[in-house]
Amino acid sequence: MSEQFTDVMIVGAGPVGLMCAYLGQLCGINVVVADKSEGPLQVGRADALNARTLQLLELVDLFDDLYPLGKSCNTSSVWADGKFVSRQSKWWDALEGCMHKHFLMIGQSYLEKLLDKKLKDRAAPVMRSTSIANIELNEKGCLTTLSNGDRIQSKYVIGADGSQSFVRNHFGIPFEITRPQIVWAVIDGIIETDFPKVPEIIVFQAETSDVAWIPREGEIDRFYVRMDTKEFEMQEAIDKINRAMQPHTLSFKKIEWFSQFSVKESVAENFFVQDRVFLAGDSCHIHSVNGGQGLNTGLADAFNLMWKLNMVINLGAPKDLLQNYEDERKPVAQKVIGTSAELVRSTKFSESGTHAEDYVKIVERRAGNITGMGVRYGEEGLPGSRVFDFEIFDGTSKTRLYSLLDYTKFTLLVCGDCNIDQKLPESVKIIKVHPNKTHEGFWTDSKQYENQAILVRPDSYIQAAAPLDRIDSLFESSLFKVAAL
Ligand SMILES: Cc1cc2nc3c(=O)[nH]c(=O)nc-3n(C[C@H](O)[C@H](O)[C@H](O)COP(=O)(O)OP(=O)(O)OC[C@H]3O[C@@H](n4cnc5c(N)ncnc54)[C@H](O)[C@@H]3O)c2cc1C
Repeated sequence: MSEQFTDVMIVGAGPVGLMCAYLGQLCGINVVVADKSEGPLQVGRADALNARTLQLLELVDLFDDLYPLGKSCNTSSVWADGKFVSRQSKWWDALEGCMHKHFLMIGQSYLEKLLDKKLKDRAAPVMRSTSIANIELNEKGCLTTLSNGDRIQSKYVIGADGSQSFVRNHFGIPFEITRPQIVWAVIDGIIETDFPKVPEIIVFQAETSDVAWIPREGEIDRFYVRMDTKEFEMQEAIDKINRAMQPHTLSFKKIEWFSQFSVKESVAENFFVQDRVFLAGDSCHIHSVNGGQGLNTGLADAFNLMWKLNMVINLGAPKDLLQNYEDERKPVAQKVIGTSAELVRSTKFSESGTHAEDYVKIVERRAGNITGMGVRYGEEGLPGSRVFDFEIFDGTSKTRLYSLLDYTKFTLLVCGDCNIDQKLPESVKIIKVHPNKTHEGFWTDSKQYENQAILVRPDSYIQAAAPLDRIDSLFESSLFKVAAL
């Protein structure tokens, strides 16, 4: 039995716990991660990273490892009566301030394996085959007892331990579940078909819309088939696929993963309790897979939480900042659940009988959640919105804002000519971008933030903005003061 000290104990090394650990490492936060599984996921589960997640991955140098392995997809199509009756991608094409206007279709296991390896490379490997026996709060924070008897004393605990969360149950956090009695079969495999194969998300309209085809990385394709019962064989799902895509036929040469997914919906009452314990990912929000938002929302939780912990643990920011994690992320989770609930029900119930078309209309209406780009913290204006990406030149070489941002710091982005007399704290990186090509240093053609100064949070949302002639007002912003500590 040993006793170890750390800043943050993370329970669960699914994608969300792994991401919390990786971001913590980047920020210089000591973390211990324990997971009851033997290793990262090998097949199955989530299948798509949205545009906002791709931007966030770029911030922390994970994008280049993952992007080439996936397949881009930005089109939702409806197939009915033996033909395509609609094909839409306008909500992706209309996205501004981002370079990758599509989903990256890639299995969750690729992200988990990458993060697991990054943690090993940083000499902070996940403690595998280890579950949690107990967590006690004490004057130093949290004392976690592991299944092998070892004890970890930490300042904070993050419960990233999935939908059945030990941490959530242990702290009695209410999590009331709605069960709409909808069950999906999910099949990943290599197919053989005479259907005109396209890299699009296809919803098939028969009597209802109970089959969806999702393109995936490599040779794999995924099918979701609504079964409405838990008692079924895989062949029944394959028969439904064949009925939906008539006159074409499809069979599987190889099955990589076959599972069923019973829809459950819930948001935890609290994401932060007793000033010490956080929930993130599926431990605090679960919903249907429709819209592909579970993994993406959980990763965004991690990006929202870890910079705040960095400011509090390493830079002495006031602890109130931690409550802001729940204040910001709980409303997002509630909206995500609204989206997936509407989508999944439309596959079964439609007033006009045009389920698949209804589905695509809901995708269009709820595109902000599905692309991730509509998520903002605050009602209107620049503060609370994501900072747009744009091209920046440095002499002859071209880069982009997102490759210059640093997750461990705030960024003061100054777009135009302006002298800054204020001494900036170390936790604020300054990027000056001039409108004039002849200027030494960075310049841009973009008019996006012309003549403005933008204070960007570590997770690339805008904290405050001001015209250059009133840049001093930014230094009064409360989070600038946090950054200045
Ligand atoms: C079929 C299917 C398709 C999906 N498709 C999508 C999609 O397209 N897009 C999308 O965004 N999301 C999708 N999701 C959802 C996505 O998989 C989840 O939202 C995501 O895995 C949540 O990550 P997490 O880290 O919060 O939880 P999990 O992935 O559940 O990880 C929790 C981890 O905690 C560990 N653990 C649990 N209890 C303990 C304990 N007591 N002690 C130690 N360790 C513990 C588990 O072993 C696990 O590794 C899909 C899910 C399924 C099932």
